[in-house]
Amino acid sequence: MSRFLSDKYSKLIPYTPGEQPKEMEYIKLNTNESPFSPSPKAVKYAAKEAERLNLYPDPECRVLTQKLADKLGVEFDEVLLTNGSDEILNFAFMAYCDFKNGAIFPDITYGFYKVFADLYNIDAVQVPLNSDFTIDITKYFNCGRTVFIANPNAPTGIALSLSEIEKIIINNPDNIVVIDEAYVDFGNESCVNLIHKYDNLLVTQTFSKSRSMAGARLGFGVGCKELIRDLNTVKYSTNPYNINKMTMAAGIGVLEDEEYTLNNCREIVKNREFVTNELKNLGFEMTNSTANFIFVKHNEIDGKELYLKLKENGVLVRHFDKNIISQYNRITIGTKSQMTTLLDTIKRIMEEQI
Ligand code: PMP
Repeated sequence: MSRFLSDKYSKLIPYTPGEQPKEMEYIKLNTNESPFSPSPKAVKYAAKEAERLNLYPDPECRVLTQKLADKLGVEFDEVLLTNGSDEILNFAFMAYCDFKNGAIFPDITYGFYKVFADLYNIDAVQVPLNSDFTIDITKYFNCGRTVFIANPNAPTGIALSLSEIEKIIINNPDNIVVIDEAYVDFGNESCVNLIHKYDNLLVTQTFSKSRSMAGARLGFGVGCKELIRDLNTVKYSTNPYNINKMTMAAGIGVLEDEEYTLNNCREIVKNREFVTNELKNLGFEMTNSTANFIFVKHNEIDGKELYLKLKENGVLVRHFDKNIISQYNRITIGTKSQMTTLLDTIKRIMEEQI
């Protein structure tokens, strides 16, 4: 830290992204990226747009926003595209939390919520999960705070039902409820349609996972027009050109290629079922994940040790040191061949254990 850093950031612990190692070729199952290339249409459109990078992008992101709104069954001014869904989450913290209005989220969830809360000096309540890692929705009723729920949750992969989400919204008529649907496309129903019923709901999603565009940084929020107007105020006060031209073009391409995305999601779900069954046969326990990752532990091998041994053997998964989940590893679902290598490597490690 330099001697010039503002006191308000002196204690800030920033978000730790998953490793992006350069030193060797790993099978990368640690950051929930898609193992599939972006849609060829997305690549083609982005490459074409590269020729026009001398110009600023459209700050309103009109073509992409309209296409996305049509796909979601909402109006143009009920959507806001952002630089990854991290940015819409950031905007939500800026717009809906302050010294009077705190935040509330589970104690085990996406780590960025706590970082945003600390960044803006927002009082944050972190509600413990139940012992089976499920969320007790009643703990979020009438809480007088802005609610942040990842659905499905990360890193557990466990989802709340649509009716449970609706109960949280109904029981917070005077607070915003943010439902982070980064992983919704791998087996869950989105609550986007509820934005027409509730003016306190903001739904966030991303192109990083099911649409294979993590490197392009594209996410969005969906909510009633007034909320989107608030969030636009924040956007135009921070970074009006938040979506670059190539990303915008790639986003249009992938939305024109829905079949490609749907097929990839089907493949991930199939591979999730395959690897889940195989790991259960090897004695692993896991949560009921409906995301593009699983959350697993084995009673005979320490979580951190398994992570380190897998890494030594060229397979990168995500381990969190936090006490109650330190026996677990989060493993991104990849291609069938990546899953087979993972299983073979785990079997070898387990044999060496005995
Ligand atoms: N929400 C959750 C639950 C996540 O796990 C992540 C990142 N993996 C994000 C949001 C942000 O993703 P992105 O900024 O790539 O859209």
